[in-house]
Amino acid sequence: MRTVTIKNEEDTRRFGLDLAGKLKAGDIVALIGDLGTGKTTLTKYIAEGLGVTERITSPTFTIVSEHHSGRLPLYHFDVYRLESGEDMFDIGADEYFDAGGVCIIEWADQVAEVLPDETLCIFIEYGEKEGERVYRCTF
Ligand code: ADP
Ligand code: MG
Repeated sequence: MRTVTIKNEEDTRRFGLDLAGKLKAGDIVALIGDLGTGKTTLTKYIAEGLGVTERITSPTFTIVSEHHSGRLPLYHFDVYRLESGEDMFDIGADEYFDAGGVCIIEWADQVAEVLPDETLCIFIEYGEKEGERVYRCTF
């Protein structure tokens, strides 16, 4: 696994913009990390890199929000409130996975059993200092 040390939010932005440039239709990005580690913040910068102009906020109550203003459609999930992976089928996750956009899933560990094998995973942990984060990437 590739480990990336992030020193501050500007590093998060750089990482997000760079990743956005590499994403292609059908990619699924799983963000796994505790509350406050920066899953939504990273999503915001990936969205910026995709050219999304809408404001990105956590879709905590709607579970998924769609953004169509960028280079690729962005389907942003926050599955914190789902009980299990089975609930993903109820919200039509399969269709989103196959919709030719990019899916970003916050709290993806909660639904790990229904994620495709080729999902790009980023495990996020707090670093030692304020603002530091460690990203462990499976890609
Ligand atoms: P999560 O979605 O994982 O709960 P958020 O992105 O909502 O986390 O919140 C992360 C908070 O931490 C934001 O207030 C953000 O400004 C702050 N932060 C500090 N350093 C970083 C960093 N390196 N990367 C991302 N967010 C950071
Ligand atoms: Mg969040």
